[in-house]
Amino acid sequence: MQFIETRGNDGKKAEKVNFSEAILSPSASYGGIYVPEFLPVFDTEFLTLHLDSHYKTLALAVLQGFDIDIDEATLKEALKRYDDFDDPSNPVPLSKIEDDCFVAELYHGPTRAFKDMALQPFGYVLAKEAQKRNENYLIMAATSGDTGPATLETFKNQDNIKVACLYPDGGTSDVQRLQMVTEAAENLKVIGVHGNFDDTQNTLKALLASDDFKDELASRNIKLSAANSVNFGRIIFQTIYHIHSYLELVRKNEIKMGENVYLVVPSGNFGNALGGFYAKEAGLPVEKILISSNVNNILTDWIENGEYDLTTRDLIKTESPAMDILKSSNIERIIFHKFGAVRTKELMDALATENKFSMTKEEIASIQADFSATYSEDDQCEAYIAKYAKEGYIMDPHTATCMKSYEKDTVKDLKTIVYSTAEWTKFSPTVARALGQADITEDTAAIEWIKNNTNVTSPEMIDGLFAKEIKHTVIVEKEDIQKEMLTFL
Ligand SMILES: *Cc1c(COP(=O)(O)O)cnc(C)c1O
Repeated sequence: MQFIETRGNDGKKAEKVNFSEAILSPSASYGGIYVPEFLPVFDTEFLTLHLDSHYKTLALAVLQGFDIDIDEATLKEALKRYDDFDDPSNPVPLSKIEDDCFVAELYHGPTRAFKDMALQPFGYVLAKEAQKRNENYLIMAATSGDTGPATLETFKNQDNIKVACLYPDGGTSDVQRLQMVTEAAENLKVIGVHGNFDDTQNTLKALLASDDFKDELASRNIKLSAANSVNFGRIIFQTIYHIHSYLELVRKNEIKMGENVYLVVPSGNFGNALGGFYAKEAGLPVEKILISSNVNNILTDWIENGEYDLTTRDLIKTESPAMDILKSSNIERIIFHKFGAVRTKELMDALATENKFSMTKEEIASIQADFSATYSEDDQCEAYIAKYAKEGYIMDPHTATCMKSYEKDTVKDLKTIVYSTAEWTKFSPTVARALGQADITEDTAAIEWIKNNTNVTSPEMIDGLFAKEIKHTVIVEKEDIQKEMLTFL
């Protein structure tokens, strides 16, 4: 299968590219991104065939459904990364928290957040492709917490790949910072930046746009790639667990094959939700995808009113920081899928020049046929965390945003799958506060208290972090990042 551009073709880039090119050079004409030319079919026949398949067998079938130009041996090797998840027999277990509500836990990988689901196998595939072509790539990431650790973890010690990860000093949790600064490998560089996440991200954007920096990279024979969810290589691995979760419900006799379900997705850049949308379009029996946000609720506005307006908004810091996002990159792929390249370019150009766009009534109706949306304040999330903790289930604040969608937006009497995107250990002070311990602010103390007062344990990779040697100590002013990068390269 070939991949095409969301904003049409500028006559300079190729009109269609293979999967390998789309993941190595993920930016398309006019600032657009790549999407599959058409979608495979994952209907009830496919589902029935895979009713008893292991996650990796299902994954291989889904990847092969997209008919990508990566050989089977490489894909199988990449999927072996799931063997290092908590339960190699099932990397994504489902927990029943209500008679009709199930939590699909996407956080059982090495960095305890759902980014591992895609980044683990994707990192392997990208590195192998770079090695095969004998090309060198630099992957740069600005992170507010979860993308950084997962990107470092997947690429560590991979030949032909270097990763530089920028984080706002003081802007991440202790666990997230330690996951990055203790990561020891020659090909990784972690740089703390004085400033907040916006400063960090803007610095990265400026660096990536600077001719100076591009020339330096070219002279060193290094190409740039990206590992965020604009890269379709992330999205392809994010369709699999939606199908797996559905099959889990069939296997547990909770639904009959073919019965519709609701999916509830805590959303930021909309990669997770897009994976669900593609699965639905391919034939997975999904009634609707319910989008959950925090008070940075621009997705709620977009889905309810068709308005995407950045002019009236400032980013608000919340207790679900991985969803503190205003420019949600993957809605572009939804808009393309529904309304085509001309319209996508029009809306994305409006967003770039006027900082907003609005859709027509018909377009809004089309979006609402697949999605509903709602958002929660921090104190509502804390209330849900407390409620479910009482019943014996500990959830993180991102997952907690889903519970309002579950209560409010499941109009029909159908089963619901809620996606849990992080383990509670990554956001333990918030969970402790929800459980009445507002004075515990340190991660170590919060983790200890929660373990002593509930039924959960914390995994070795979290407990061991606090004693690990710190490998990256560089914290710089924004102006000094370029110099720091060149030293690393
Ligand atoms: C990245 C992330 C999200 C948002 O996922 P998107 O695919 O960007 O919508 C939600 N929760 C957690 C914990 C995350 O790390």
